[in-house]
Amino acid sequence: MNEAKQTKLTRHVARLLRCRRCPRMRSTPVSGGPIMSDVMIVGQAPGPREPMLKRPFAHTAGKTLFRWFEQFSGMNEVAVRSRIYFAAVCRCFPGKNSTGSDRVPAPDEIRNCALWMDDEIRILRPHLIIPIGRLAILQFIDCAKLENVIGRTFRVTRSGHRFDLIPLPHPSGASPWHKIPPGKALTEHALKLVARHPAIERLSRAAQRSTRGALESLRAV
Ligand code: SF4
Repeated sequence: MNEAKQTKLTRHVARLLRCRRCPRMRSTPVSGGPIMSDVMIVGQAPGPREPMLKRPFAHTAGKTLFRWFEQFSGMNEVAVRSRIYFAAVCRCFPGKNSTGSDRVPAPDEIRNCALWMDDEIRILRPHLIIPIGRLAILQFIDCAKLENVIGRTFRVTRSGHRFDLIPLPHPSGASPWHKIPPGKALTEHALKLVARHPAIERLSRAAQRSTRGALESLRAV
C-alpha cells in the first residue's frame, strides 16, 4: 500500500517538475521531492534563489522557518526536509514587480497550480497542513487579518479529505509581523500548536530515534 502510494507520489513530482502551464512564470517548478508524510507545508511561491538551489525555502525565509521547527519541535532542517512534504501555492518563481519585490502570482496561475496541490492531498491524505503566509492560508480559509487565524487550529476539507490546519505567518524578513506584538506571541502559540500536534510528535520522535541510531553506530565503529 505504502509502496503504491510512494510510486504515485514519485510520478506526481516527476510530472510536476515538467509543468509549464503558466507562461508568465520566470522559472521552472521547485519541489522538495516525493516525501511520504502525514504533514504538508504549503509555502507561497519560490523566490529567485530557490530554482537555482532546487529546493523550497532555501534562502533567508527558510533559515527562520527551520529555526522555528528546531526550537519548538526539536526537528532540524534535515529532519524537516526529509519528513515533511513541501507544497506551495505556486511552484515557479513569478518574477519581480515594478517596485522590485517578488510578484504575487495571478489568480489564473494560482488556479493552475492548485491542481497539483489537490492531487498531493488526495495521494498523501495528510493529518496536518501548515500553510505559511497569507496567500497560502487563503487557499484554505478566510484570512482578512493574520491576527484572526495565527495561533489557532482549524478543521478543513479539501479534495475530499479532512485534516487539521495550523497557519503560520511568512518568516521572510520583508514582513516584521511575526517579530512584534501581537504577531510575536501569536506566532509562538502557533508553533507550540504545531509541536504538540500528534502528526508532528510522531515525526519528531522518529527523527530523534534515527539520530540516536546514527550516533550508536558511530560509537560502535
Ligand atoms: S506555477 Fe504551477 S501550474 Fe504554473 S507552471 Fe509552475 S508548476 Fe505549473
